[in-house]
Amino acid sequence: MPTFVNPEKCDGCKGGEKTACMYICPNDLMILDPEAMKAYNQEPEACWECYSCVKICPQGAIEARPYADFAPMGGTSIPMRSAEDIMWTIKFRNGSVKRFKFPIRTTPEGSIKPFEGKPEPGDLESELLFTETELVTPKEVLNKKIEVSDADASRVWKEGEFEG
Ligand code: SF4
Ligand code: SF4
Repeated sequence: MPTFVNPEKCDGCKGGEKTACMYICPNDLMILDPEAMKAYNQEPEACWECYSCVKICPQGAIEARPYADFAPMGGTSIPMRSAEDIMWTIKFRNGSVKRFKFPIRTTPEGSIKPFEGKPEPGDLESELLFTETELVTPKEVLNKKIEVSDADASRVWKEGEFEG
């Protein structure tokens, strides 16, 4: 079952230019009703149930039917994310509630330096390839008009004959 937004919890990401759920959906399904300031899934049948929007929503306003392997039919699962971990609140149809908390990273947030030790980025405006130091131009053929003369056109090549 696709996601659905609980309008009582959704605050439209406080009127930001792009809501968190719109930003994260890989299928561009989430959209904001600018008058009601509530988001909704505009094409539920195309939802992959990837849970990205469910996990990123700061209000916990998006729900999706949990996969049957961790919550039987009729249950709900609401994640709450922090910088260090994610806690899933699973509500079963008999009303019982269980919470599961998992770490989501092994390093402090912001500590990863993805470009450390990498070469300086090249100049994207340059025509040189990364390994080239100068542009090699075949000057001898520049501005030279090359025509196929009648004699050349009528030349009959013999089998096995190769000439420059
Ligand atoms: S991320 Fe949550 S609060 Fe923000 S617009 Fe989407 S559903 Fe509403
Ligand atoms: S569950 Fe995934 S595909 Fe479905 S609306 Fe959310 S982000 Fe998009």
